[in-house]
Amino acid sequence: MSHFEDTNRYFREAAKIMDLSDREQTLLLTPNREVKVEVAVELESGELATFIGYRVQHNNARGPMKGGLRYHPTVDDDHAKSLASLMTWKTAVVKVPYGGAKGGINCDPSKLSHKDLEKITRKFTLEIHEVIGPQKDIPAPDVNTNAQVMAWIMSEYSKIHGFSPAVVTGKPLDLHGSQGREPATGQGLVYVLEEVLKDQNRSLKGTTVAIQGFGNVGSYTAKFLHEEGSKVLAVSDVNGAIRNPEGLDVPSLIAHMKEKRTVVGFSGAERMSPDELLTMDCDVLIPAALGGVLTRENAAEIRAKIVLEGANGPTTPEADQILNKRGVVVVPDILANAGGVTVSYFEWVQNIQRYEWDLEHINRELRRILKRAYARVCKEGKSRGVTLRTAAFIVAVGRVGTATVLRGL
Ligand code: NAD
Repeated sequence: MSHFEDTNRYFREAAKIMDLSDREQTLLLTPNREVKVEVAVELESGELATFIGYRVQHNNARGPMKGGLRYHPTVDDDHAKSLASLMTWKTAVVKVPYGGAKGGINCDPSKLSHKDLEKITRKFTLEIHEVIGPQKDIPAPDVNTNAQVMAWIMSEYSKIHGFSPAVVTGKPLDLHGSQGREPATGQGLVYVLEEVLKDQNRSLKGTTVAIQGFGNVGSYTAKFLHEEGSKVLAVSDVNGAIRNPEGLDVPSLIAHMKEKRTVVGFSGAERMSPDELLTMDCDVLIPAALGGVLTRENAAEIRAKIVLEGANGPTTPEADQILNKRGVVVVPDILANAGGVTVSYFEWVQNIQRYEWDLEHINRELRRILKRAYARVCKEGKSRGVTLRTAAFIVAVGRVGTATVLRGL
């Protein structure tokens, strides 16, 4: 089944409970616009390279579209559509005034030089500059893209449209980025987990965790959990997985990662199989890499009591059903990892106002918004007797649907 269809299955479950007609469902599911462009460049090596760039703009009923750009060989129409629609529902769950979009380029940045990446990014921006913009669609970092990539996009876009910092978020601090944006998704995951644990009369202190992925989301999540006294038992990246049953020394691991570009080889841990990490004994499993990693095949083996979705779409619908039946609490991506888009929203607001907020203010607002979203989703879930994921979709679809009706066709 396609990734877009997987996401839509969650939507349909909510739509059925909400009694939406087939036509209403089609209206909300169909992307507004899908852009696919050729990105042809001459690499530093002199070689000609051609990539395909994507931008799917799913829905803008509640505001301009918003979502990340991913540089990865797996990027295609289907992934972009699935991830764009998740952004529509995510921005609605946390009630930030955006719609949803997503895109990227089907390249492997590990095989490209810094100069090549810049060239590719600028070319892609030239190809899509007419459909993005501070009031149209605002890209942000995702897998294998970062503040530098956002700076190149802003620079290229500004050459054509005039100085426009608000065209992208996740920019460097020295180029109108926001305090707290880089760690925001990890910080948000920890704020949400704190609420989930509170409901179970527990706290972050002493809670044991396994994290798949040690990039932006995984490493900041580990850092904040460690600071709160949780035990990060194992982490992985694309090169392998490591564990320490006493809890990893996360600050030293981050220093190792910065130097070696991988968690593998960290002296304070032993190697383990990456698959085993997903099924190891721990309180909380945090998938924070790619989609579709919790599947029909491994869901029955997962021993964590809470799955906190740092990645987008890490759980297939079949796995979701198995986990729900087994009583595992799955905190869905559209709620759990919404800290990133929330602080992206703060960055956009600051860019538009030409005013700067401090980190304390940002974290206070981030926590308030995520607490509010979690409480709203829990209330919906309890009153309807449904999972957190279905409840989050009901809240989101209700908000997007109402905005659509109010605006009219
Ligand atoms: P990133 O590029 O910074 O890090 C990705 C990490 O995943 C790297 O450590 C990489 O080595 C690892 N990885 C890749 N393939 C793997 C595999 N097969 N097994 C184990 N690890 C693997 O990306 P990121 O920004 O941290 O994004 C991670 C996930 O979080 C994505 O699903 C993304 O959509 C989602 N997300 C990101 C943000 C954000 O603000 N960056 C916000 C919300 C959701």
